[in-house]
Amino acid sequence: MTRSLKVAVIGAGVAGLVVARELQRESLQVVVFEKSHQLGGTWAYDARVESDLLGIDPNRDVVHSSLYKSLKTNLPRELMSFTDFKFDEKVYGGPGMYTGHEEVLKFLNDFARHFELIELIRFNTLVTRVEVVDLDITEFVVESNTNGVNYVEMFDAVVVCTGRNTQPRLATDIPGIKTWPRKQMHSHNYRVPEPFRDQIVVVIGNGPSAVDISREIAMVAKEVHMSSRSPLVKVAKSDKFNNMWQHSKRSRSSSAQQIGIRASGSKRGNRKASQGIRDQINCVSEDGWVTFQDGFSIDADIILHCTGYKFHLPFLRTNGIVSVEDKRIGPLYKHVFPPRLAPGLSFVGILERTFPFIIMECQSRWIAHALSAKVSLPSEDEMLSEVLKYYEEMKEKGLPEHSTHQLGFQLDYIDWMWAQTGMVMEKNIRNMIEYWIYCLMTAGIDGYMDLFSQKYGIY
Ligand code: FAD
Repeated sequence: MTRSLKVAVIGAGVAGLVVARELQRESLQVVVFEKSHQLGGTWAYDARVESDLLGIDPNRDVVHSSLYKSLKTNLPRELMSFTDFKFDEKVYGGPGMYTGHEEVLKFLNDFARHFELIELIRFNTLVTRVEVVDLDITEFVVESNTNGVNYVEMFDAVVVCTGRNTQPRLATDIPGIKTWPRKQMHSHNYRVPEPFRDQIVVVIGNGPSAVDISREIAMVAKEVHMSSRSPLVKVAKSDKFNNMWQHSKRSRSSSAQQIGIRASGSKRGNRKASQGIRDQINCVSEDGWVTFQDGFSIDADIILHCTGYKFHLPFLRTNGIVSVEDKRIGPLYKHVFPPRLAPGLSFVGILERTFPFIIMECQSRWIAHALSAKVSLPSEDEMLSEVLKYYEEMKEKGLPEHSTHQLGFQLDYIDWMWAQTGMVMEKNIRNMIEYWIYCLMTAGIDGYMDLFSQKYGIY
């Protein structure tokens, strides 16, 4: 009888939990390492903020979760479910499709209890080293620390599930930003709007967090100015808030035609105003002023970077086989396996602009089936050449490296992944996903939830 493989799963967030379940189903020996005292990762809201609000100081105490207190999900429960454990069938909080973070955490705890995963988790255990010891038989050393005690163990395989939303990525290329003398912070450390009361705030970014947080801050702040690099956002004064403006990278003429907003209501805001269109940030200066590309300037109090996150895997030592740079981990076949170390080393949950729960479940099943030899992977050369081809295509399309793991809500990736283990996405889920994408494309980040609810009901 062959020995069942011993697999280390690092992290007990959504990814680690669903990986553990799939590995267990394949009768593999599973140990889940979790640095926190509880499971849930991102969904375990933490009211603390870090001592360095920009997350630059490497010696700061890191707070893992980036959730703010009022956060509600931006995906309906149906799309935050697992194939055989449905969020929408649970009664937590109200009946709405979008829920608070507390409900998501309850759901994950129920999931872990239901599939008897809790006994697999070593809580309060930080993994400090994952190292490949023998490339031929792919064995890994996992070093960890539990309450000050160090452990070194050998594993046949390691699945990295440490999340991708903890280490801030900053808009450091704005001239003057590094020496700007006033308060700067990253959304990772945003919890409640109160510290922004009566302040003039510049928010950089236009993702869901930037939109959500800007709206919340606008309830108490003097002015909120959103600045985005995307040419797709509308340059306009908010129709919901009198004290909020959106600035983008549009050309001055098209922006002007579109909006024609006037100078800010505040005296400080008026001082350097040009024609009233405040565009993307051009530079910030030592006297505190923030200048947009059209020349309009604001004497801002706070700059809030809602500029996303980068990967940070300080424990990973692969002798250069896997590189972790900014927002790219590579080379990774299908964003999961480094060809040279497959299937021994894998990563779950690094894709963005996608449906995390659904993707993580199908990736996890694929990994479990690859480790139990139920499915075979292409050769190392084939996997590598596919990754290199992908990089080449990105270059040809002019896509930056930091978009490597942005799926752009493509369904063919999910279909491909399901097909590897003989699964097909349920029809109602597929319809919902397609409609959700349609809503996002049609109504944009401001309106997709309203449009979605017209078909699918309340939220
Ligand atoms: P995480 O949840 O980050 O879990 C990683 C785990 O690894 C943590 O428990 C951490 O403690 C542990 N860990 C890290 N390093 C180590 C180490 N060295 N040793 C031991 N343990 C370690 N997704 C949705 O589906 N719907 C939404 O509405 C949604 N909203 C979001 C809003 C915000 C503001 C953010 C930041 C994310 C949101 N997401 C949403 C995405 C969300 O991140 C995923 O749903 C999911 O939580 C990711 O799970 P994960 O397991 O990959 O990572």
